[in-house]
Amino acid sequence: MDELLVLARPLRGTVGETRRVCHVFVLPRGEKPTRLTALCGTEFGPGQLELLDRPTGMPCVACLRNAPPPRLLDGKEASA
Ligand SMILES: [Zn+2]
Repeated sequence: MDELLVLARPLRGTVGETRRVCHVFVLPRGEKPTRLTALCGTEFGPGQLELLDRPTGMPCVACLRNAPPPRLLDGKEASA
């Protein structure tokens, strides 16, 4: 399925500053779910997330660990 990799972090004031890490989300393209679950398993509802156009601040280590392997632009799996 066609999926988007999205970066987002909790909005200021919704959690403590130390928990405002950059989570990774995999979303089916074209869908707008009301609740989002990060790759680390943390759930977020409407109005809780700030979308990021690039990694900002501290990354969520658990999300990175669960992220899909990098793919080359031609769609082949990268050999790391
Ligand atoms: Zn996370």
